[in-house]
Amino acid sequence: MARVKTRVDFDVVIAGAGPAGAWALKHLPEGTRALLVDAANPLESSRGGKLCGGMLTAQAQALLPELPSEARAEPFKTKLEYHDLDTGARARFPVDYANCYRGSLDRWLLRQALETRGSGVDYLPRTRVTGLQPENGAVRVRLNDEREVTASRFLDCTGWRQASRRALGVPAAPYYHALQAECALSSPYPYYISVFASEWTPFFGWFIPKSESLGEIGAAFESDRRDPPGGMLAPLVEHLRQYGLEFKLGRIRGCRLTRPGKASDIWLGQGRVLACGEAAGMVSPSSGDGISYALASGKAAARTVGLPVKPALAEYRGALAPQLAELRRNIVKARLLANRRARRIAGMLLPFIQRGNFERLSL
Ligand SMILES: Cc1cc2nc3c(=O)[nH]c(=O)nc-3n(C[C@H](O)[C@H](O)[C@H](O)COP(=O)(O)OP(=O)(O)OC[C@H]3O[C@@H](n4cnc5c(N)ncnc54)[C@H](O)[C@@H]3O)c2cc1C
Repeated sequence: MARVKTRVDFDVVIAGAGPAGAWALKHLPEGTRALLVDAANPLESSRGGKLCGGMLTAQAQALLPELPSEARAEPFKTKLEYHDLDTGARARFPVDYANCYRGSLDRWLLRQALETRGSGVDYLPRTRVTGLQPENGAVRVRLNDEREVTASRFLDCTGWRQASRRALGVPAAPYYHALQAECALSSPYPYYISVFASEWTPFFGWFIPKSESLGEIGAAFESDRRDPPGGMLAPLVEHLRQYGLEFKLGRIRGCRLTRPGKASDIWLGQGRVLACGEAAGMVSPSSGDGISYALASGKAAARTVGLPVKPALAEYRGALAPQLAELRRNIVKARLLANRRARRIAGMLLPFIQRGNFERLSL
């Protein structure tokens, strides 16, 4: 007996309205009936929004129109200071990051996407996807208000929560436990700082100026570290104060930072479910950059929505080939950065790589 196809309410349900979800929505084929749900509401998020350093890589900048003034943090472009407490190296050199306020960025991305789609989208803020069930040519999506909807496709853009992996029994990607706090600066400091110190972080710690009087301080730790956040950040805070930064630390917030350790930690989906951005595990394990991957994958997934299931996944993977290759290189880079000997060698090579732009700082 032929199976009766489930009647679909939407062509696509997008879960998560962060950069991946907003960029997926914006790039859907004309006429797609879409439902966008978000557990929170990025349109209302405070200036801080999602816990993030707000650094846009060159790849992220290339995928975006010019940022509006409210999303630009100052200095918008500046140099990076590298402090290696293991090897004693300290240097300053240019990087191609742009500095933004993450909450404002997310609001701007989502507003653009909703304006582009106009009446072709239903947006449900403060609505969480709690379950997924593939069935007869559709996906049944359970929402936290007991409602169920059906769709031909499901795009998982739920960030580190990775809703579809949970629902389909796919193992979660490994992650760091990241902490970050705003700090009120007594005097401006115009450079980004990254601090490597294997005694207290397997990743690195950071300071990011946001204005003359505001900065962000953060670091990432092993996923099982659960000591009081103040104590975990204390060595970084102490180092920055000894270095001469004067600031008052605000409330420390924490969340997962996905960290693929091998290529198979990145999962692009199966059947009618595609995973985008951090939900796919697409975060650079060497730098923590995830916004560029979220934008690129959201856009690529949207473009496959009208295709049959198998070609859609193949097309999606093909479109992301440059990002997947970059992530594989970054997995290797992360292993090298975690090794103080490799960092010592990199420190010796940096002046040649950076040529005239490299400034060695005194200890
Ligand atoms: C401390 C820290 C610093 C970082 N700094 C940088 C940086 O400087 N530059 C950079 O490029 N990247 C940075 N990242 C990584 C970057 O923030 C993420 O990779 C990026 O936000 C991923 O975007 P996304 O759209 O995939 O997910 P998110 O931005 O996390 O968006 C996910 C959305 O899904 C919603 N959601 C979650 N679960 C559900 C559900 N079940 N149903 C419906 N909605 C749901 C959430 O409310 C959220 O709005 C940092 C991360 C951390 C933790």
